[in-house]
Amino acid sequence: MTSDLEACRAALARFDLDDNARTVQQKSRDFYWYSPILKEQLKDVCGDFVVAPRSEAEVIEILSICHAHDVPVTVRGAGTGNYGQAMPLHGGAVLHMKHMDRILSIGDDHLVAEAGAVMSHLEKAARERGLELRLFPSTTATATLGGFIAGGSSGVGAIRWGGLRNPANIRRVRLVTMEAEPRIVELTGEDISKAAHAYGVNGVITEIEIPVDPAGDWVEVLVGAADFSAATRLTFAIGENDAIGKRMLSTFESAIPDRYFNRHAPFLGKGEALVAAIVLRDSLAALEETVAGTPGAAVRFRSDRDGEGHRLPPVYEICWNHTTLRALKIDPSMTYLQMMLPQDDLYGAIARLGEAFGDELLLHFEFTRFVDGKVAAVALPLVRYTSAGRLEELIGLLETRFGVTVFNPHRVTLEEGGMKRTDPAQLDFKRQTDPKGLLNPGKMIAWTHPDWVPEPGRVFLFNR
Ligand code: FAD
Repeated sequence: MTSDLEACRAALARFDLDDNARTVQQKSRDFYWYSPILKEQLKDVCGDFVVAPRSEAEVIEILSICHAHDVPVTVRGAGTGNYGQAMPLHGGAVLHMKHMDRILSIGDDHLVAEAGAVMSHLEKAARERGLELRLFPSTTATATLGGFIAGGSSGVGAIRWGGLRNPANIRRVRLVTMEAEPRIVELTGEDISKAAHAYGVNGVITEIEIPVDPAGDWVEVLVGAADFSAATRLTFAIGENDAIGKRMLSTFESAIPDRYFNRHAPFLGKGEALVAAIVLRDSLAALEETVAGTPGAAVRFRSDRDGEGHRLPPVYEICWNHTTLRALKIDPSMTYLQMMLPQDDLYGAIARLGEAFGDELLLHFEFTRFVDGKVAAVALPLVRYTSAGRLEELIGLLETRFGVTVFNPHRVTLEEGGMKRTDPAQLDFKRQTDPKGLLNPGKMIAWTHPDWVPEPGRVFLFNR
């Protein structure tokens, strides 16, 4: 299929169109450079122009024109994704959602917004009505709702609501198809998973309805602990204690706060592992009591008490994938992995990994509550990068020798990212919504290689 780029560009002239080489390159990039592998692999990726629709009607017109000229379209929210998800591997149009940022309605238990709405703006608007979001990524300051649904997985709120896969977290998704005459499709219930975490390969999401809950009065707390196992045990005790209302729970081995959490350093104990928590103000007493029951642990920071004059970032900006960002700012040789340690032998695994890899792999857990109510620790460890070969070797060792499941973030495709195997429902939906394969091409292996199978024996988080 050959694109007629010039004719397409001319037909799009009446829209907000940008073909300045420098800004097009900027808008063709996301946080892919988090991965030294993707940094090398994707460095030359660039769209041909950026077009920013002002309404759903404009999305329909733009997609129809791009379809007619066989021009690929890659949707961009804020470009904070870190697997090159929003990068136009085959060039063409970058569809920037920046103008479609309106909040359409807020009810007692739900919020409807356009896909380009910034997450933190949604939280602010909800709070003005005594409500709050269930889940947001640590990039909430800039990330869009559409980008979170199409590219994200979980974040602050996971300890109460799990990830985006939990059907309780998205009510409705409205999208536009990539056809000669684009259609509007509304997905609810189970069907939402056809387009959620699909990197925009099977529709341009224009509107989303999410649930909201009564707003909590949240306090940020940092707790020092003797070592990482003690911090983890303490975090499970907090996570599993229903008397403590919480929004976020994270743990870090001591080298991470020691080296990378400069802004919080005045409050932290050198050589201590760290627990970061966001808890309800009226749960503070119960939290302090739980901490007091752990020998060697101590509350080091409370946002309701400390920090005035320190201009600290919100605590979630040292957690989730912000941990990697903090490390990269200080040591560019750091990168990360996403993985699950064997939960039935967690402390044994922590000890074995420490012995085997030492400083090469620094453990960081984010705590989540799965749909069955179980609290689990998802690992986002920092990795000292030396070469692509060593990273592959490390992943292999983690999986084969240590029983760790690795979700490889150094891959650009939906399938290889390891979050799931080929998803027949998403593939089938793409056949209906994007028959020419023009939406974000190159991101869904199953589209070009329907028979692709992951490595035998490989474990996937979402098998369905
Ligand atoms: P983009 O990066 O612009 O897009 C993401 C994907 O969605 C792309 O494939 C894009 O094509 C597609 N897309 C965007 N808008 C639409 C649309 N309207 N219709 C269809 N497809 C669309 N992720 C988490 O889940 N939790 C975290 O806590 C988290 N923390 C992070 C911390 C840092 C420092 C960084 C760099 C990343 C983090 N991420 C996290 C990843 C990312 O920030 C989030 O997933 C974020 O929600 C993406 O939003 P965005 O608007 O930047 O999307």
